[in-house]
Parts: sequence; C-alpha cells; structure tokens
Amino acid sequence: MTDITSASGNLLEIRQLRKYFGKGSHPVRAVDDVSFDIRKGETLGLVGESGSGKSTIGRLLTRLVDPTGGEMRYQPQGSDAAPQDLAKLSQSQFRPLRSKVQIIFQDPYASLNPRMRIRDVLAEALDTHGLARGAARLPRIRQLLQQVGLRPEHADRFPHEFSGGQRQRIGIARALAVEPQFIVADEPLSALDVSIQAQVVNLLGELKEQLGLTLLFISHDLDVVEYLCDRVVVLYLGRVMEIAPTEALYAGPRHPYTRALLAAAPIPDPARRRTVPLLQGDLPSPANPPSGCVFRTRCPLAEARCETVDMQLREVQTGHWHACWRDDL
Ligand code: ADP
Ligand code: MG
Repeated sequence: MTDITSASGNLLEIRQLRKYFGKGSHPVRAVDDVSFDIRKGETLGLVGESGSGKSTIGRLLTRLVDPTGGEMRYQPQGSDAAPQDLAKLSQSQFRPLRSKVQIIFQDPYASLNPRMRIRDVLAEALDTHGLARGAARLPRIRQLLQQVGLRPEHADRFPHEFSGGQRQRIGIARALAVEPQFIVADEPLSALDVSIQAQVVNLLGELKEQLGLTLLFISHDLDVVEYLCDRVVVLYLGRVMEIAPTEALYAGPRHPYTRALLAAAPIPDPARRRTVPLLQGDLPSPANPPSGCVFRTRCPLAEARCETVDMQLREVQTGHWHACWRDDL
C-alpha cells in the first residue's frame, strides 16, 4: 500500500499492524499485517465474520491491548504537529490521548457499574480527564444526557432502570464526556432489539456530524454498514481483503470473500441479489492460517498459485483496493 503523508487528511494511518495472542510456535494471529487509513471526519466500516479480528483492531487503536508489531500513526484534528505512533507509546505516554480515542462496546450493561447512578458514571469519566469541574459539572452531565436523547432527570437513576437502547445511549454519553475525536463502536447494535437499532444508528450519525467525530463502526450487519459508512474495510482471518468507498463496494465487490459476504447477507430487494456461491466450511484457525492467500481454502476461484503467494492489497480503482490476483473480478 502506498505511503500517505500526514498532510492528506488522515486521522490514523495503520501500517503492518499485528496482534498475536499467546507465545510458542503457533500464536493466535488475531491481526496480521493490516494496513489502512482512517480519514478525518469519516465513518469507516469494519466488517468480517466473527473471529476475523475486528474487535482486536478496535482494542489496539484504543490501546486496550498492546500491538505485537506495526504502526498506528495518529494525527490529531487541527494539529500540524508530527503524527504520533500510538503503537510505540507506553501506557503512561498514551494516557493523555486516552480521552481522544474512545470505544463503545456491544453490551454497555457489562461495562456499567450497577451500583452507580448515571451522573456518577459520567462524573467518573469527566474526573479521569479533569473536565467540567465544580459548578460546571451538573450542567455538563445534563447536556450529555440530552445529546444522546435522554432526559436530565435520568442522571439520578441506576443502570438497571434503563432499557437496552437507553443503556447504549449512556455508553455513548460516557464516551462523549471526554470530548473525543475518534470513536470505535464495536458492534454497538448487536445486543439491541431490531426496533431500537435504527434509533441508535441515527444517533451515532447525528452526533458524528454535530461534533465532527471520526467513527470506526465495527459490525456484521452489512445493511447498516451500507447505510452509515463512507468507506468499508473487509477483514478475513486477521487480514484485509478489500477496502473501498461504500457505494463502490456494494455495487461492485471485487474480492471473492466480499462477494460471498454480500451474497450471504439477506437482501430484501431481490434485484440486488448476487449470484455468488455462499461461503462453504468454517473459518480456519488463526493459530494455523492457510499458506499464501488465507482465503484460498474457502475460495470458489482458488488456483494452485494462491497457495504460495504473499497476497498484498493493490489498488484497482481510485480508493478501491483488494487482495486477489484476479483482474477480471
Ligand atoms: P471479531 O471481533 O472479528 O469476532 P476478535 O478480534 O474478537 O474477532 O478475535 C480474533 C481472533 O483472536 C479470534 O480467533 C479470537 O479467539 C482471538 N482472540 C481475541 N482476543 C484474544 C485473547 N485475549 N486471547 C487469545 N485469543 C484472542
Ligand atoms: Mg468482535
């Protein structure tokens, strides 16, 4: 992948990022040689089957786990300073940046202390970064609740008094409390009723616009990704298969894996149904990935040369990259 300098409007430039879990001869290669950019102000989708390494990428970018190798160059919004490589920072060096990069999880309830009132949950977040002290505290908490569509009086309630959708709103308010530039939303809809999902999607989209946020939206729901995201990164077994603007990806997926994914998703409009064979078999173990192209064991188009190639992403149209030889796709 070409090297893009910090002047190009990228908030994050991820290069050859790796995360291996476990030592010994067969560590789990959760993320293996992953490179992509996250542009300032965009919503970037990250899709792939369960176990493909999506959450690990989200946790690496927020430094909840430490990378095994690679770079995560971060250029703060509105700054001309040289980019910082988040991968190289120690946890204490990363602390001042922790407020800038926040994460929202699938199940906000698991991360909310059941004995804390919501105002204390938000106060704790503000305290961590020395924000909105003293008399400014309560108005800020009220403002946060309103921003996420809750009422000021909700501040006095406990997590169990809220519905799943409301709890996800609290998770979002907590992330926003510290005035982040970048939010990783890791399957934020998966624990919610379908009827509530659209509300949370719309909320995320509105907040992103209002606050000028950059969003990495991790999801296995391809319809929501199509609706919300500007560009999409497709991941398989810890590797990037395809990167493209959303419209281009959905109108003309290039990689056989992306084609299979889009064909497997339920598409209400039969005119858009794709005639691609569904994915056969299970995801191979990331502790023992196939040689060559990691998708070859499930690829309907695999050939002998796929076993030995070191398959790299290549640009097939402006901004559209994929990791397959085939030019006819
Ligand atoms: P996804 O979010 O796409 O489902 P994950 O990033 O959670 O994928 O996981 C990628 C791979 O890494 C999986 O094989 C998973 O079992 C493994 N993995 C994730 N976290 C750990 C961990 N803490 N220890 C060992 N293996 C892990
Ligand atoms: Mg996950």
